[in-house]
Amino acid sequence: MSNDEIVKKALGEIGAAGSSGELNDIRVKYLGKKGEITMLMKQMGTLAPEERPAFGQAVNAARGSVEQALLSAAEKIAQKEDAAKLAAERVDITLPGRAQALGALHPLTQVYYEIRDIFLSMGFDVNEGPEIELDQYNFEMLNIPKDHPARDMQDTFYVSDDVVLRTHTSPVQVRTMLGQKPPIRMVCPGRVFRTDDVDATHSPVFMQMEGLVVGKNIRFSDLKGTINTFIRNFYGEDVKTKFRPGFFPFTEPSAEVDVTCTVCGGKGCAACKGAGMIEVLGCGVVNPVVLQNCGLNPEEYSGFAFGMGIDRLANTKYGITDIRLLYENDARFLRQFV
Ligand SMILES: [Zn+2]
Repeated sequence: MSNDEIVKKALGEIGAAGSSGELNDIRVKYLGKKGEITMLMKQMGTLAPEERPAFGQAVNAARGSVEQALLSAAEKIAQKEDAAKLAAERVDITLPGRAQALGALHPLTQVYYEIRDIFLSMGFDVNEGPEIELDQYNFEMLNIPKDHPARDMQDTFYVSDDVVLRTHTSPVQVRTMLGQKPPIRMVCPGRVFRTDDVDATHSPVFMQMEGLVVGKNIRFSDLKGTINTFIRNFYGEDVKTKFRPGFFPFTEPSAEVDVTCTVCGGKGCAACKGAGMIEVLGCGVVNPVVLQNCGLNPEEYSGFAFGMGIDRLANTKYGITDIRLLYENDARFLRQFV
């Protein structure tokens, strides 16, 4: 095969090559150690000396044109391959992103903050205490000795004879009176525990908030004013309150407070059992015995206390009829409070 024929064949193959891999094979086939053009050079020895320069030039020219063709083909193929790669990796920036679900405060926490802020605005402090409590602080100093029938009102988890899971946040009131001289004006929120079975209105653990005011000349009218102000701030100006006589060992006199049913607005419905009012908290004037137990002179000081279930307030505010919803944390329920 002549030089020209070899070059023509090589250029044809280069033109048909579709990838840089194929081009490389063609380079080896013609210009490699045993390539067709390289082998031509080796024929030089068989020629007469005067023929050699012309032959050498011709082979070099053939080699040059194949190299040139390989180079420009390589450039074109590289461009084509780049374009294909870009197309394959193309990102559609007009596609909408994946929405990130936003977290929010649990409805109980939201209601707690709301109640707390109302009392903070009235000048109350927020005090906390342990959930595992001495029987002495949970019961005895609150005028509920071991044989007192009132213990039956609260079904208690006993850790030992002298230690309980607190059944109310009242022991924080005891701790406050023991540690602070009046005037006292504080609320104590927290988890409390009773041996109740779970149903729509009971849970063995629930959230309570109590309040205590102790000072000179504190009267039942101060209690009424404080509770009415709180209720109006929490439920709205239109809600009415009713103080009914009640009984608690640690207050005397005691009252239970009803508010206009938030579901029916006072007309009567299933939620309020037709009464038009629902009970939301208990309160009273601090029993002088409790003041004395906590080292305060009942001749000098008087006070009032109140307690409410945060769960119950959340339920009445939002018309939730089953307390379990607050503790099961079903995202479909929680999302309604975002
Ligand atoms: Zn009602």
